[in-house]
Amino acid sequence: MSEPTPTTCMRCAVGCGHLQSGREDGHGVAEAKGNPEHPTNEGADCQRGIEETVDPGGDRLTQPLVRRGGELQPTNWDTAVGVVANRFIEALSNGGGDIAVLGSGQQTTEAVYALGKLARGGFGTRYYDANTRLCMASAVKAYDSAFGSDAPPPTYDDIPKADTHLVWGANPKTAHPVLYRWIAESAAAKDSQLVVVDPVETQTAADADIHIQPAPGTDLA
Ligand code: SF4
Repeated sequence: MSEPTPTTCMRCAVGCGHLQSGREDGHGVAEAKGNPEHPTNEGADCQRGIEETVDPGGDRLTQPLVRRGGELQPTNWDTAVGVVANRFIEALSNGGGDIAVLGSGQQTTEAVYALGKLARGGFGTRYYDANTRLCMASAVKAYDSAFGSDAPPPTYDDIPKADTHLVWGANPKTAHPVLYRWIAESAAAKDSQLVVVDPVETQTAADADIHIQPAPGTDLA
């Protein structure tokens, strides 16, 4: 197992700092834990963040595959990279317009930037899309309409300064436990309160000072 490296948990948008150690064979993460020096989580972590980082599960590829005659067949990296390079050369000879690039919401900001540069500047394609539109476009519209800013206006440091914490249609105690720790600690302070609006009696609602429980189907207005 390698020495722990400070990095960011990729499993949700809370952005906890992790200390991750690589496996001896160089593939995957052997151990992950919260980084005590990271300001977001101060050493805390959650089961999902640790387990999915160390043991992502699913049908992960363990070697490259190349489609031949409609069938994906195992091959080595030299062959796979050669096939990809030849396909890129072929598409670029048509001006790059035949290449479409899809980014993932699991990429780091730096990876998104590099992929965008490769797609637009390198390949010259206009068919590039990523989390920016696939996920965030509707959120940005809502943020802008509600707060006049195209991103969440508060920071974690604002949470302890709030007197009232309003959680509407979300269950952060289960879904984002590290973020919820910030809210719960602040709401527990004197003259502070937690208000939850949710038809469901969630774990977060069970902690609330006030739980407003609209009838199911009436809370989207
Ligand atoms: S709350 Fe859990 S899943 Fe989300 S970033 Fe932190 S450790 Fe990862």
